[in-house]
Amino acid sequence: MEGDDRKSYAAPHCTASDPTHAHPNPNPNPNPNPNPRNARALELWRTADCVCLDVDSTVCLEEGIDVLADVCGVGPQVASFTATAMDGHMPFHEALRARLSIMRPSLQRVHDMLRDRSPTLSPLVAELVDRLRARHVPVFLVSGGFRQLIEPVATELRLLPACRHVFANTLLFNEDGSYRGFDESEPTSRAGGKPEALRRLACTFGFRRIVMIGDGATDLETRPDPACLFIGYGGVARRPKVEQGADWFVTSFRPLIDALEYDCNDVAVNPPEE
Ligand SMILES: [Mg+2]
Repeated sequence: MEGDDRKSYAAPHCTASDPTHAHPNPNPNPNPNPNPRNARALELWRTADCVCLDVDSTVCLEEGIDVLADVCGVGPQVASFTATAMDGHMPFHEALRARLSIMRPSLQRVHDMLRDRSPTLSPLVAELVDRLRARHVPVFLVSGGFRQLIEPVATELRLLPACRHVFANTLLFNEDGSYRGFDESEPTSRAGGKPEALRRLACTFGFRRIVMIGDGATDLETRPDPACLFIGYGGVARRPKVEQGADWFVTSFRPLIDALEYDCNDVAVNPPEE
Protein backbone atom coordinates (compact mmCIF):
# COMPACT_ATOMS: atom_id res chain seq x y z
CA MET A 1 0.00 0.00 0.00
CA GLU A 2 2.73 2.41 0.96
CA GLY A 3 4.55 1.84 -2.32
CA ASP A 4 1.43 2.81 -4.21
CA ASP A 5 1.06 5.90 -2.06
CA ARG A 6 4.54 7.05 -2.85
CA LYS A 7 3.88 6.70 -6.57
CA SER A 8 1.08 9.21 -6.24
CA TYR A 9 3.36 11.83 -4.74
CA ALA A 10 2.55 15.34 -5.84
CA ALA A 11 4.72 18.33 -4.94
CA PRO A 12 3.23 21.50 -3.45
CA HIS A 13 1.42 23.77 -5.86
CA CYS A 14 0.61 21.39 -8.64
CA THR A 15 -2.11 22.67 -10.91
CA ALA A 16 -4.56 20.93 -13.18
CA SER A 17 -2.96 22.61 -16.17
CA ASP A 18 0.45 21.19 -15.36
CA PRO A 19 0.78 17.98 -17.40
CA THR A 20 3.57 16.70 -15.17
CA HIS A 21 0.97 16.10 -12.49
CA ALA A 22 -1.50 14.32 -14.69
CA HIS A 23 0.15 10.99 -13.86
CA PRO A 24 1.80 9.59 -10.75
CA ASN A 25 5.38 10.70 -10.23
CA PRO A 26 7.51 7.57 -10.81
CA ASN A 27 10.40 8.95 -8.76
CA PRO A 28 9.01 10.64 -5.67
CA ASN A 29 11.35 12.86 -3.70
CA PRO A 30 10.51 13.26 -0.02
CA ASN A 31 12.53 16.47 0.13
CA PRO A 32 11.28 18.53 -2.80
CA ASN A 33 13.20 21.55 -3.95
CA PRO A 34 10.31 23.98 -3.99
CA ASN A 35 9.88 27.11 -6.04
CA PRO A 36 9.04 30.27 -4.00
CA ARG A 37 5.32 29.52 -3.83
CA ASN A 38 6.08 25.96 -2.81
CA ALA A 39 8.46 27.20 -0.17
CA ARG A 40 5.68 29.30 1.36
CA ALA A 41 3.29 26.34 1.36
CA LEU A 42 5.91 24.14 2.99
CA GLU A 43 6.70 26.77 5.59
CA LEU A 44 3.02 27.15 6.49
CA TRP A 45 2.55 23.39 6.68
CA ARG A 46 5.56 22.95 8.90
CA THR A 47 4.61 25.79 11.23
CA ALA A 48 0.84 25.17 11.42
CA ASP A 49 -0.59 25.54 14.92
CA CYS A 50 -3.81 23.69 14.00
CA VAL A 51 -4.73 21.20 11.28
CA CYS A 52 -8.33 20.61 10.23
CA LEU A 53 -9.21 17.53 8.23
CA ASP A 54 -12.30 16.96 6.14
CA VAL A 55 -13.68 13.47 6.71
CA ASP A 56 -15.65 12.09 3.75
CA SER A 57 -13.25 11.14 0.91
CA THR A 58 -10.34 12.58 2.92
CA VAL A 59 -9.88 10.97 6.34
CA CYS A 60 -12.19 8.17 5.21
CA LEU A 61 -12.55 6.44 1.87
CA GLU A 62 -16.32 6.73 1.81
CA GLU A 63 -18.86 9.51 1.63
CA GLY A 64 -20.57 8.73 4.94
CA ILE A 65 -23.90 10.19 3.90
CA ASP A 66 -23.96 7.96 0.83
CA VAL A 67 -23.25 4.90 2.93
CA LEU A 68 -25.99 5.82 5.40
CA ALA A 69 -28.35 6.41 2.48
CA ASP A 70 -27.50 2.95 1.19
CA VAL A 71 -28.26 1.48 4.60
CA CYS A 72 -31.57 3.37 4.47
CA GLY A 73 -32.30 1.89 1.03
CA VAL A 74 -32.10 5.15 -0.97
CA GLY A 75 -28.46 5.11 -2.05
CA PRO A 76 -28.70 6.10 -5.74
CA GLN A 77 -30.99 9.08 -5.13
CA VAL A 78 -28.82 10.51 -2.38
CA ALA A 79 -25.51 9.84 -4.21
CA SER A 80 -26.58 12.13 -7.04
CA PHE A 81 -27.34 14.91 -4.55
CA THR A 82 -23.95 14.44 -2.86
CA ALA A 83 -22.02 14.60 -6.14
CA THR A 84 -23.77 17.82 -7.12
CA ALA A 85 -23.13 19.44 -3.75
CA MET A 86 -19.45 18.49 -3.61
CA ASP A 87 -18.82 19.83 -7.11
CA GLY A 88 -20.08 23.21 -5.94
CA HIS A 89 -23.22 23.31 -8.03
CA MET A 90 -25.70 23.38 -5.16
CA PRO A 91 -25.60 25.24 -1.83
CA PHE A 92 -24.59 22.78 0.82
CA HIS A 93 -27.52 23.36 3.18
CA GLU A 94 -30.01 22.77 0.36
CA ALA A 95 -28.36 19.49 -0.57
CA LEU A 96 -28.22 18.42 3.08
CA ARG A 97 -31.88 19.13 3.65
CA ALA A 98 -32.84 17.38 0.42
CA ARG A 99 -30.79 14.30 1.17
CA LEU A 100 -32.10 13.96 4.70
CA SER A 101 -35.68 14.36 3.54
CA ILE A 102 -35.10 11.36 1.28
CA MET A 103 -33.22 9.31 3.85
CA ARG A 104 -35.03 10.07 7.11
CA PRO A 105 -32.41 7.98 8.97
CA SER A 106 -33.57 6.44 12.23
CA LEU A 107 -31.29 5.88 15.21
CA GLN A 108 -31.45 2.16 14.45
CA ARG A 109 -30.16 2.75 10.90
CA VAL A 110 -27.23 4.75 12.31
CA HIS A 111 -26.41 1.89 14.66
CA ASP A 112 -26.76 -0.58 11.77
CA MET A 113 -24.25 1.41 9.74
CA LEU A 114 -21.72 1.68 12.55
CA ARG A 115 -22.02 -2.06 13.12
CA ASP A 116 -21.95 -3.27 9.50
CA ARG A 117 -20.43 -0.50 7.38
CA SER A 118 -18.06 1.39 9.66
CA PRO A 119 -15.90 4.01 7.90
CA THR A 120 -12.52 2.96 6.48
CA LEU A 121 -9.55 5.21 7.19
CA SER A 122 -7.60 6.48 4.18
CA PRO A 123 -4.07 5.09 3.84
CA LEU A 124 -1.53 6.91 6.00
CA VAL A 125 -4.03 9.27 7.64
CA ALA A 126 -3.47 7.68 11.06
CA GLU A 127 0.29 8.12 10.60
CA LEU A 128 -0.25 11.75 9.63
CA VAL A 129 -2.34 12.41 12.73
CA ASP A 130 0.24 10.65 14.90
CA ARG A 131 3.00 12.77 13.40
CA LEU A 132 1.06 15.98 14.08
CA ARG A 133 0.31 14.84 17.63
CA ALA A 134 4.02 14.23 18.20
CA ARG A 135 4.61 17.85 17.19
CA HIS A 136 1.85 19.03 19.56
CA VAL A 137 -0.27 20.30 16.66
CA PRO A 138 -3.98 20.00 17.51
CA VAL A 139 -6.05 18.15 14.89
CA PHE A 140 -9.78 18.57 14.31
CA LEU A 141 -12.23 16.79 12.03
CA VAL A 142 -14.47 19.28 10.22
CA SER A 143 -17.24 17.68 8.21
CA GLY A 144 -20.55 18.30 6.60
CA GLY A 145 -21.41 14.75 7.61
CA PHE A 146 -22.90 13.59 10.87
CA ARG A 147 -21.41 13.70 14.33
CA GLN A 148 -22.85 10.31 15.21
CA LEU A 149 -20.82 8.75 12.39
CA ILE A 150 -17.65 10.83 12.77
CA GLU A 151 -16.95 10.70 16.50
CA PRO A 152 -16.06 6.98 16.17
CA VAL A 153 -13.52 8.00 13.51
CA ALA A 154 -12.03 10.59 15.87
CA THR A 155 -11.81 7.91 18.55
CA GLU A 156 -10.02 5.57 16.14
CA LEU A 157 -7.51 8.35 15.43
CA ARG A 158 -7.13 8.90 19.19
CA LEU A 159 -8.46 12.45 18.95
CA LEU A 160 -9.92 12.46 22.43
CA PRO A 161 -12.36 13.37 23.72
CA ALA A 162 -13.92 12.86 20.31
CA CYS A 163 -16.75 15.32 20.89
CA ARG A 164 -14.24 18.16 21.26
CA HIS A 165 -12.33 17.29 18.11
CA VAL A 166 -15.31 17.10 15.74
CA PHE A 167 -17.24 19.83 13.98
CA ALA A 168 -20.14 18.17 12.16
CA ASN A 169 -23.89 18.04 11.86
CA THR A 170 -25.99 16.39 14.51
CA LEU A 171 -28.89 14.14 13.63
CA LEU A 172 -31.92 14.47 15.88
CA PHE A 173 -34.28 11.65 16.77
CA ASN A 174 -37.70 11.31 18.37
CA GLU A 175 -38.09 9.31 21.57
CA ASP A 176 -38.93 6.19 19.57
CA GLY A 177 -35.71 6.58 17.55
CA SER A 178 -37.37 7.82 14.37
CA TYR A 179 -35.81 10.68 12.43
CA ARG A 180 -36.72 14.14 13.70
CA GLY A 181 -34.32 16.41 11.81
CA PHE A 182 -30.89 17.89 12.25
CA ASP A 183 -29.43 20.62 14.42
CA GLU A 184 -29.57 23.70 12.23
CA SER A 185 -27.46 25.69 14.70
CA GLU A 186 -24.36 23.71 13.73
CA PRO A 187 -22.20 25.88 11.46
CA THR A 188 -21.53 22.91 9.20
CA SER A 189 -25.22 22.67 8.31
CA ARG A 190 -25.01 25.86 6.26
CA ALA A 191 -23.13 27.21 3.26
CA GLY A 192 -19.88 28.68 4.51
CA GLY A 193 -20.07 26.42 7.53
CA LYS A 194 -16.52 25.13 7.43
CA PRO A 195 -14.94 28.62 7.44
CA GLU A 196 -17.23 29.44 10.38
CA ALA A 197 -16.12 26.31 12.25
CA LEU A 198 -12.47 27.25 11.73
CA ARG A 199 -13.17 30.81 12.88
CA ARG A 200 -14.62 29.43 16.10
CA LEU A 201 -11.46 27.38 16.60
CA ALA A 202 -9.29 30.44 16.01
CA CYS A 203 -11.40 32.44 18.48
CA THR A 204 -11.48 29.75 21.13
CA PHE A 205 -7.84 28.65 21.06
CA GLY A 206 -6.09 31.61 19.47
CA PHE A 207 -4.79 29.61 16.52
CA ARG A 208 -3.03 31.79 13.99
CA ARG A 209 -1.91 29.25 11.39
CA ILE A 210 -4.78 26.91 10.61
CA VAL A 211 -4.28 24.46 7.75
CA MET A 212 -7.30 22.83 6.08
CA ILE A 213 -7.02 19.56 4.20
CA GLY A 214 -9.88 18.21 2.13
CA ASP A 215 -11.24 17.08 -1.20
CA GLY A 216 -14.31 19.25 -1.66
CA ALA A 217 -15.53 22.70 -2.62
CA THR A 218 -16.64 23.36 0.96
CA ASP A 219 -13.07 22.70 2.13
CA LEU A 220 -11.64 25.08 -0.44
CA GLU A 221 -13.94 27.81 0.95
CA THR A 222 -11.80 27.99 4.10
CA ARG A 223 -8.96 29.64 2.19
CA PRO A 224 -7.68 32.35 2.48
CA ASP A 225 -9.65 33.14 5.64
CA PRO A 226 -9.53 31.66 8.23
CA ALA A 227 -7.21 28.95 6.88
CA CYS A 228 -3.77 30.21 5.91
CA LEU A 229 -3.14 27.16 3.76
CA PHE A 230 -5.45 24.81 1.90
CA ILE A 231 -4.13 21.40 0.92
CA GLY A 232 -6.32 19.60 -1.59
CA TYR A 233 -6.49 15.84 -1.15
CA GLY A 234 -7.24 13.80 -4.26
CA GLY A 235 -6.45 10.32 -3.01
CA VAL A 236 -10.11 9.27 -3.13
CA ALA A 237 -11.84 11.79 -5.40
CA ARG A 238 -10.00 14.21 -7.66
CA ARG A 239 -12.01 17.38 -8.28
CA PRO A 240 -10.63 19.88 -10.85
CA LYS A 241 -11.96 22.96 -9.05
CA VAL A 242 -10.27 21.91 -5.82
CA GLU A 243 -7.04 20.91 -7.57
CA GLN A 244 -6.84 24.29 -9.27
CA GLY A 245 -7.65 26.27 -6.12
CA ALA A 246 -5.39 24.43 -3.70
CA ASP A 247 -2.10 25.85 -2.46
CA TRP A 248 -0.81 22.31 -2.49
CA PHE A 249 -2.50 19.29 -4.02
CA VAL A 250 -1.65 15.74 -3.03
CA THR A 251 -3.03 12.32 -3.85
CA SER A 252 -1.39 10.73 -0.83
CA PHE A 253 -0.64 11.87 2.70
CA ARG A 254 2.96 10.67 2.26
CA PRO A 255 4.43 14.00 1.08
CA LEU A 256 2.80 15.78 4.03
CA ILE A 257 4.31 13.28 6.47
CA ASP A 258 7.68 13.45 4.73
CA ALA A 259 7.67 17.25 4.87
CA LEU A 260 7.26 17.06 8.64
CA GLU A 261 9.90 14.34 8.98
CA TYR A 262 12.38 16.36 6.98
CA ASP A 263 11.56 19.38 9.07
CA CYS A 264 11.88 17.78 12.49
CA ASN A 265 15.62 18.39 12.84
CA ASP A 266 15.86 21.87 11.47
CA VAL A 267 12.71 23.76 12.43
CA ALA A 268 11.46 24.30 15.96
CA VAL A 269 7.70 24.28 16.33
CA ASN A 270 6.30 25.70 19.53
CA PRO A 271 3.31 23.83 20.96
CA PRO A 272 0.22 26.02 21.00
CA GLU A 273 -1.22 27.00 24.34
CA GLU A 274 -4.67 25.45 24.79
MG1 LIG B 1 -14.92 15.42 1.59
